[in-house]
Amino acid sequence: MDVLERNGAVLTGHFRLSSGRHSDTFVQKFRVLERPRLAQSFGGAIAQAFGCEFDVVASPAVGAVVLGFATALEADARFIFAERVDGTLSFRRGFEVGPHERVLVVEDVVTTGGSAKEVVDLVSLSGGEPVGVGTLIDRSERADPLDLGARLKALVHVDAPAWAPDECPLCAAGEPITDPGSRRL
Ligand code: ZN
Repeated sequence: MDVLERNGAVLTGHFRLSSGRHSDTFVQKFRVLERPRLAQSFGGAIAQAFGCEFDVVASPAVGAVVLGFATALEADARFIFAERVDGTLSFRRGFEVGPHERVLVVEDVVTTGGSAKEVVDLVSLSGGEPVGVGTLIDRSERADPLDLGARLKALVHVDAPAWAPDECPLCAAGEPITDPGSRRL
């Protein structure tokens, strides 16, 4: 968290998250991921959290590709990514998961975990064995634990409120909203 704050990655205001929920806090992960040495050290920490016990790292494009690559580099694993086509994440470009290959899913920020779970399911369907989900930032609500189909380990927990749009106090106060998410890519 200290590294995120020192690099200006933690913003306050009124934001529409990629999940569609609103929050007063947004973590612009690219303030750290744009620095390759930092990305590499975060990737190393994720790889270590799983004991480097995986053969492949799989990430959802676009945002998590940098961190997934860094994690694979540290563990000397293969790296692949899933892309959204017509709303569904799939492996393209000839990316494959071999039978019983151990696959670590790496995401950059987990809020609802939707994309991470989609990649976990995609790995299973492809014949691989998901061994976990590693993420830089977990900003899910602790009161409502996520079921991603694989164990989640995060380097940083961000305890920030997130509201459904019709329950957002900042909307109620007429605060203009910014839309920093990348889901639409
Ligand atoms: Zn709002």
